[in-house]
Amino acid sequence: MPELPEVETVRRGLVKFLPKSKIAEIQILHPRVNRNSEQSLENAVGAKIENVYRRGKYLWFSLDRGNAIVGHLGMSGQMLITSKKKTVSPHVRAIIRFAGSSAEFRFVDQRTFGWLSIDELIDTPSGEIPECCLHVAQDPFDSNFNLEEAVRRLSDRKTEIKRALLNQKIISGIGNIYADEALWFSRIHPERKIESIPQSELRTLIRNATKVMNNSLKRGGTSFDDLYIDVNGESGYYEISLKAYGREGEPCSRCGTSIRRITFANRASHFCPLCQQAPRTKSKLGKNGVGNRGSKRSSR
Ligand SMILES: [Zn+2]
Repeated sequence: MPELPEVETVRRGLVKFLPKSKIAEIQILHPRVNRNSEQSLENAVGAKIENVYRRGKYLWFSLDRGNAIVGHLGMSGQMLITSKKKTVSPHVRAIIRFAGSSAEFRFVDQRTFGWLSIDELIDTPSGEIPECCLHVAQDPFDSNFNLEEAVRRLSDRKTEIKRALLNQKIISGIGNIYADEALWFSRIHPERKIESIPQSELRTLIRNATKVMNNSLKRGGTSFDDLYIDVNGESGYYEISLKAYGREGEPCSRCGTSIRRITFANRASHFCPLCQQAPRTKSKLGKNGVGNRGSKRSSR
């Protein structure tokens, strides 16, 4: 699933092409692509795209009519800028064509959890935001991101740290991959309760998440499941640098202990059982916090 670095890579690709383009035609090829049932996407025909913005995993193209086309990649969405002449693949869900251009925008989505919609732009202290994104917290790439506020929002939660990291109302943009990576770098077990973690460690955790996502952005993101690509169809190559995510059974690059995978909050979590000590379950774990393969907490 694309996370902040992947969506930002897509935004950077789109911003090279879309601003000043006048929308000449919008073709909807799958009914699920238009999320806003009240307003048809085709209403944007004739509008000019001003710029391409992002908050967390949401992207939007501001239009010269005070509204925006908002998009979310969902699990497998791709936004491509491609030649009109290129064959339209079966997973293309929408096409936007522009006046006087030989290239077009294609929204490709194999699993159809992604969407596009037209939404009003709302004035906020941090600029104009589409109405459907107002609930999304600022992400660490945002110039208005406030680390101390994010630490406070995190520490207010009475839940496990990984669950809170994935909550887009606290900090947006972090998904399963970068949550596992940030926790590994911070030596924090994903199931630890937030109240057991000192604020200084929460601060370091957010800094680590930002650092990991910045490093991934420099490499064009992580194309772990081969579905994520940039606007030109290229894969990112950060997966070679991943320390925990997807590394089950491989030695931790810090201590050599096998990385473990557990199911937590309906998702896979990957961590080093030695570097990232489990909370209050020492009885279940052997010496050095290394659990038995057959225990309830072992990989599935
Ligand atoms: Zn380790």
